[in-house]
Amino acid sequence: MSVADNLDLFRSQLSKFPQSKLVAVSKTKPIALLEEAYQAGQRHFGENKVQEMTEKAEKLPKDIQWHMIGHLQSNKVKYLAPYVYLIHSVDSLKLLKEIDKQAAKNHQVISCLLQVYIAKEESKFGLDEAELRDLLLGDELPALAHIKIVGFMGMATNTENQQVVRNEFRYLKELFDHYQREELPANVTLKEISMGMSGDYQIALEEGSTLIRVGSAIFGERNYL
Ligand SMILES: *Cc1c(COP(=O)(O)O)cnc(C)c1O
Repeated sequence: MSVADNLDLFRSQLSKFPQSKLVAVSKTKPIALLEEAYQAGQRHFGENKVQEMTEKAEKLPKDIQWHMIGHLQSNKVKYLAPYVYLIHSVDSLKLLKEIDKQAAKNHQVISCLLQVYIAKEESKFGLDEAELRDLLLGDELPALAHIKIVGFMGMATNTENQQVVRNEFRYLKELFDHYQREELPANVTLKEISMGMSGDYQIALEEGSTLIRVGSAIFGERNYL
């Protein structure tokens, strides 16, 4: 199966979920494979390292929409700002303020998702329910004129137990629905839910995902050297 064949399969599955888009996660993969996906019509790509994203963005066509899906350190935001379309992994007010500052320098508004902790694993990043509330309803968010919060992102527990995964995605969707009904600052418009990867995207789509982040099912397994 080529990258183009895999993308075709995803397109046909996604046709049943018109609100959902595919982010092709190209981390660790060579430019040639990204070009293959681009030739096949793919425009949304996801990377988890700032340097890798900016290097690839420099080499590839300018109409690609780059998604930062990995944990982001404040001191790297300045390199990312000129290239990024959507940051999925915002997990603190401190990071959000830095994104706002760098976006202002570039005369842009950067769209962000708040990463919410939904898994039962220690290592996953994200805001818990109380932190999410404090950030969304706190005093500081309305002043950030160069960011826009457009939704939430979550990663389910890495388990074979589909019910656990489904419940975690359902929980994120419930939070999303809850905050859609709340009065939120003008720079918050909740429309995207980023959830689902190669192993669990089907469940995520059924539970209301609007952005699935799929790597290995498109580009093949990754080798970490
Ligand atoms: C790597 C990664 C993915 C894609 O993982 P696959 O299992 O290869 O589809 C999705 N989301 C995040 C945050 C990732 O780091």
